[in-house]
Amino acid sequence: MYAVLAGGVGAARFLRGLTAIVPADEVVAIVNVGDDLERFGLRVCPDLDSITYWLSGTVHPEQQWGRADESHVVATELERFGHDPWFTLGDRDLGVHIHRSWRLGQGASLSQVAEEVRRAFGVEVRLIPATDDRAETRIVTQDGRDLHFQEYWVGERGAPPVAGVHLAGAADARPAPGVVEALLDADAIIIAPSNPVVSIDTILAIPGIAEALRTTPVPVVGVSPIIGGQVVRGMAHKLLPAVGAEVSAAGVAAHYGPEVLDGFVIDTADADAVDAIAALGIRCVATDTMMDDVEVAASLARTCLELAAELAG
Ligand code: GDP
Ligand code: CA
Repeated sequence: MYAVLAGGVGAARFLRGLTAIVPADEVVAIVNVGDDLERFGLRVCPDLDSITYWLSGTVHPEQQWGRADESHVVATELERFGHDPWFTLGDRDLGVHIHRSWRLGQGASLSQVAEEVRRAFGVEVRLIPATDDRAETRIVTQDGRDLHFQEYWVGERGAPPVAGVHLAGAADARPAPGVVEALLDADAIIIAPSNPVVSIDTILAIPGIAEALRTTPVPVVGVSPIIGGQVVRGMAHKLLPAVGAEVSAAGVAAHYGPEVLDGFVIDTADADAVDAIAALGIRCVATDTMMDDVEVAASLARTCLELAAELAG
């Protein structure tokens, strides 16, 4: 079994490659919930849903998140009432949020609902939210505001300079059932090429998860989300400096550190960083990591598993 720490789109692109080379039912993704929000009383879980849509082939191909063939009838009707459409939800997407919210209201846990949703979409990868408790990523801006991650990223388009990032509610959150077990029992743990600050750190901030990664005998291999010193998409370049990390493959490796990482896979464009990363005590390999097609993603996943096997042996 392979455990993958996962954010949204970067992780989804990686999981598509991994499931091309190993049986999907042998993969467990532990998914960030720090981005989750409430809209009109509905629970929205962007990272769980991005992965579900990608792995079921229902994702919007250009946007890379949300649903293909999406419409916005409900969102347009809501504007009639003067609602600010800052976070627009498509009609198909709303079906998932309605089901999830209804089940949570009945007392189901988020991990139970994530299981139902992925099965309903025919996704064989097990998707476990990092926690069933509410823990919310907050962005502290340099002008002194404390914003929900989505208010910062979607509401303000990531414009305000960032002073810091924290996961509100982390101290009282517990790993969801199956998370720590997966980290202790896996053949390999992979940290997907996701946003290190608002996708991976927010998983590691749940008490017990970072400790499991530091103490597990299972090899932990990360993949750099930075290619040629640049993010592929998203806002990691704005957030890494706010947590004291350099925006580079080596910066991300150093940020996770050798206590968490046994190995790190970086892009060939950053191959000159291999020695610096190895000097941290992290075995480092460079390969093609731009996963625009499934072949590259599969080959990257194979490199990760080979590195993990080498580290285990
Ligand atoms: P989000 O929650 O949807 O933003 O997705 P993630 O946190 O999973 O991923 C965002 C990160 O994935 C960004 O920092 C991107 O640079 C990285 N990323 C996206 N696609 C790729 C890819 O094909 N290769 C690599 N190496 N990184 C990628
Ligand atoms: Ca996300």
